[in-house]
Amino acid sequence: MAVRTPRSAPAADTDPGIAPVSALPGVGPALVAALARLGLERVQDLWFHLPLRYEDKTRVTAIADLCVGERAQVDGVVEAVERGFRYRPQLKVAIGDASQQTLLLRFFHFNRAQAEQLLPGTRLLCFGEVRHGAQGLEMVHPQYQRLSGDDAVAVDELLSPIYPTTEGLGQKRLTGVIGNALALLPAAEQLELIPSELCAEHGLTSLRDALLYVHRPPPDAHLGQLMLGRHPAQQRLAFEELLTQHLSLKRMRASVRRRHAPALSGTGELQRRLLAGLSFELTAAQQRVGAEVARDLAQPKPMLRLVQGDVGSGKTVVAALAALAAVESGYQVALMAPTELLAEQHLHNFRHWLQPLGIEVEWLAGKVTGKTRKLALERVAAGAPVVIGTHALMQEGVAFAQLGLVIVDEQHRFGVQQRLALRDKGRDGELVPHQLVLTATPIPRTLAMSAYADLDVSSIDELPPGRTPVQTIAISNARRLDVIERIHAACGEGRQVYWVCTLIEESEQLRAQAAEVAHAELSAALSGFRIGLIHGRMKPKEKQAVMDAFKAGELSVLVATTVIEVGVDVPRASLMVIENSERLGLAQLHQLRGRVGRGALASNCVLLYQPPLGQLARERLQVMRETSDGFRIAEKDLELRGPGEVLGTRQTGQLAFRIADLARDAHLLPAVQQVGERMLTKYPRQTERLIERWIGGAARYVNA
Ligand code: ADP
Ligand code: MG
Repeated sequence: MAVRTPRSAPAADTDPGIAPVSALPGVGPALVAALARLGLERVQDLWFHLPLRYEDKTRVTAIADLCVGERAQVDGVVEAVERGFRYRPQLKVAIGDASQQTLLLRFFHFNRAQAEQLLPGTRLLCFGEVRHGAQGLEMVHPQYQRLSGDDAVAVDELLSPIYPTTEGLGQKRLTGVIGNALALLPAAEQLELIPSELCAEHGLTSLRDALLYVHRPPPDAHLGQLMLGRHPAQQRLAFEELLTQHLSLKRMRASVRRRHAPALSGTGELQRRLLAGLSFELTAAQQRVGAEVARDLAQPKPMLRLVQGDVGSGKTVVAALAALAAVESGYQVALMAPTELLAEQHLHNFRHWLQPLGIEVEWLAGKVTGKTRKLALERVAAGAPVVIGTHALMQEGVAFAQLGLVIVDEQHRFGVQQRLALRDKGRDGELVPHQLVLTATPIPRTLAMSAYADLDVSSIDELPPGRTPVQTIAISNARRLDVIERIHAACGEGRQVYWVCTLIEESEQLRAQAAEVAHAELSAALSGFRIGLIHGRMKPKEKQAVMDAFKAGELSVLVATTVIEVGVDVPRASLMVIENSERLGLAQLHQLRGRVGRGALASNCVLLYQPPLGQLARERLQVMRETSDGFRIAEKDLELRGPGEVLGTRQTGQLAFRIADLARDAHLLPAVQQVGERMLTKYPRQTERLIERWIGGAARYVNA
């Protein structure tokens, strides 16, 4: 056995990683607060806060050589400036360079001083994403700096990491703090928590090297590989994160299953009455899954079951049947959804189904305040049978009389910790509630086993009859005007349209800007029709107002960021246009497309793409055109992994993982399971510390 030096003893107080970020030089209360918004509270949280992408400012590209979709640095001289106020203030700056080509810079947010600086003749070094605009190539809101005279451009020597950040915390500042945190990284063997015998068996390289590489890739690093998260250093980190997730889920499952739950098995009378009142018959898949759930509920052991089913497969009615089993046995049911919008849809459905049976449904969401909230809480405490809401349900002050079943919709929006928090509400002496999780994210079985290692899985693998599949076509952005023409015609026929902007950016602000640009464009092109806008920077109230107007048919077109990805149900919307569709993964495209084709109307989906298409992007769009089967799409997604050009591998809202991506990293799972098993049985202390390292931080992230 190796002789241990005193420094390598893993005593907590010698671990620099667990010190608060305020221990770092120059980190005062304001910065602590900003970092906390990112879930970064301890020094080690900064170690694991990885770049979202990298910018290559190590070279300058001639305008003539720019490619649409690329981010590039251009050195040019301002040729013309135009301030427009057609729909909203706009500053257009044309620059030219030695390649004799022109590039348009567009600004929607600018101040006077800025506009005055950008005069013809000014030399600019700008960096941004190259887009195809009405007047040729353009950059919207590029970063730029003025250069004087004939100075040679000082290009960067290293790739610049771009970190996910938050308002009020600039990249420079964040990069500086992370640099200071990295200076405290302990020696490799001290940092390592996966036992060396297992590292050796599975060829795992040093965690310390991996972290340093990912934060500071050398100039010769393979940028494409890094951008896709497939570099061995990133894979090493993803492995550790997947392993930790696995360990924590397994441990949690074991601890829950040791406890007792109320056996919920009534006469089935309420369920019969609900079914008799429906205008449809359950599909065979719904019946099968319903029976699996019923069997679990009848056990005196807490159910931990995931029901996965494609968008529109009818998970809600299965959840309602489960709820009735609890109500009939005299227990309460809590249903929570990730957004107020979704929760409200459930409220509507449940009231529609349960009120005729004489069962009241309580509504508890963030916007329920004051006296209404107080009364609702009192009724919940007194035993109101069914309570629906967002995660506000879990906030303090919500006490249940006898919670028997917790239903969580769209689980990937919640962290495991959030599920736990609600379950804790149910501690009634020895009894814990059953748990039913619904998700529309179809996951192949192997993945499900790992991602939901704490849950049993049921699949509703069949859609109700009579749905018209969404007709999907892919169209090059070069034919954007034709598409807009088509929207015009559709609006004229009274159809409603989603226009989804999918700019993948580090900040919600830039995404919102992209949506604003599209909104202005469509408003101009579709005069006579009302065009709405919804994005993540709007207040919940504003979002709700826009959604309500769209639902009520007052808006013809809804321009949206991917905030609409999950669960929105507007049966009359029958056309969807997805911009930059080549950049999205199949799963996300499928989720988005699921927003149309929900009613009896024949629906269409237009996948706009920026040519030229890479091989993988081409295949992905092809799959979308060929099938609308979520499970097939999920399998295909996995199959197509490899050097794809999904830049959006970190899907918004998917907080459960910081680094790993189940579709991309599925090949790591068999080893994760092997190492996981050995660690659970042989290395409990390291298991503990791994969970503390990865999930301790994530829990705070989720609650932020
Ligand atoms: P999801 O699984 O996406 O949550 P929902 O539960 O919202 O799907 O169901 C989608 C729509 O299909 C709803 O309008 C629902 O009433 C309807 N539905 C559910 N089951 C059936 C069925 N067996 N036959 C016909 N329509 C159904
Ligand atoms: Mg649903």
